[in-house]
Amino acid sequence: MMEEQSVDNLSLSQNLPLSQDSFQQLWESVCTPSISTIPAVTPSMFTALTVNDAPHEGWKTDDIMLMDDQVLHEGFDEKLFELAPEVSIKDGVTPPASTVPVTTDYPGEFGFQLRFQKSGTAKSVTSTYSELLNKLYCQLAKTSPVEVLVSKEPPQGAILRATAVYKKTEHVADVVRRCPHHQNEDSAEHRSHLIRVEGSQRALYFEDLHTKRQSVTVPYEPPQLGSEMTTILLSFMCNSSCMGGMNRRPILTILTLETPEGLVLGRRCFEVRVCACPGRDRKTEEENSTKTQNGTKQTKKRKSAPASDTTSVKKSKPASSAEEDDKEVFVLYVRGRERYEFLKRINDGQDLLEKENKTKSSASVKQEVPLPSSGKRLLQRGERSDSD
Ligand SMILES: [Zn+2]
Repeated sequence: MMEEQSVDNLSLSQNLPLSQDSFQQLWESVCTPSISTIPAVTPSMFTALTVNDAPHEGWKTDDIMLMDDQVLHEGFDEKLFELAPEVSIKDGVTPPASTVPVTTDYPGEFGFQLRFQKSGTAKSVTSTYSELLNKLYCQLAKTSPVEVLVSKEPPQGAILRATAVYKKTEHVADVVRRCPHHQNEDSAEHRSHLIRVEGSQRALYFEDLHTKRQSVTVPYEPPQLGSEMTTILLSFMCNSSCMGGMNRRPILTILTLETPEGLVLGRRCFEVRVCACPGRDRKTEEENSTKTQNGTKQTKKRKSAPASDTTSVKKSKPASSAEEDDKEVFVLYVRGRERYEFLKRINDGQDLLEKENKTKSSASVKQEVPLPSSGKRLLQRGERSDSD
């Protein structure tokens, strides 16, 4: 290779001492002057670039310098791949549009809504939606039914459009496409599109002239008689982890209801993860999300804890304020019917005991001694079962 030669030549002729400074000097002297000395780039990338570059003489240096930077600083980067299709665009050098797709929900005047089937988190599930995270988990190329609801009939010729966009700000400018590997093994005309609409002959695949963003549309069909929604079938043609494609960058799918002219009437967004085990991943991510929200959960618990505490509070407080305490109602969230029944029985028992005690104490002198101790014992049992 070229740089090897030049390095050899230099080291031979200059006989440099083996210190880092001199090596840096040498490195710089080798690197800066010409692009032919860029080190450590796989030959295939170069070929792709040079071939595609031929008609755009003006782009050459810039593109290659950009690549050089990325290679040196970030190592192996998926952006290397993304450059290739853009360079190969046939005619006209259109500057990349700065349009950032809108990802906020907008039901609009037609009350545009999406609904997903409840598929659970079983191991075998190929597509499942998390209400909690507004996130669809699905397997590569497997169909995900998405139910579309409107509150009133959209205008004639309305369409539904699905567009994928990177979720994170630092990636949002990049166009979501399939990875080179999956594109190459597919002969479909729209093989570069991540999102497909299945089961419709009327699906159309678009690539925006300026932003290069890809989308797929189908005509909006009113619900069948006796049904309140229409279902469209989406499939995602790369894994979220695909190298040179999404490369583990989370994406959002934007579904818009549009007039035939492309005027947006409604918009809904949801995150998508394409993976091997949708059920497992959904479960894990939902659990992680509740764990991180534990802060708020715990304060909730603390707030509701006094509900069973009232009896022990009574002990230290005079009767009048204890009665006031009794009037305050607390809500305790209980997981599982069995535990709920158990705790309810305790609560009912307490109510009964209290009633009895009240009639006793109003009849005779205040003699509340047995109540706190029994109340306390029950409370501990309740707590233990709650933390299980
Ligand atoms: Zn792929």
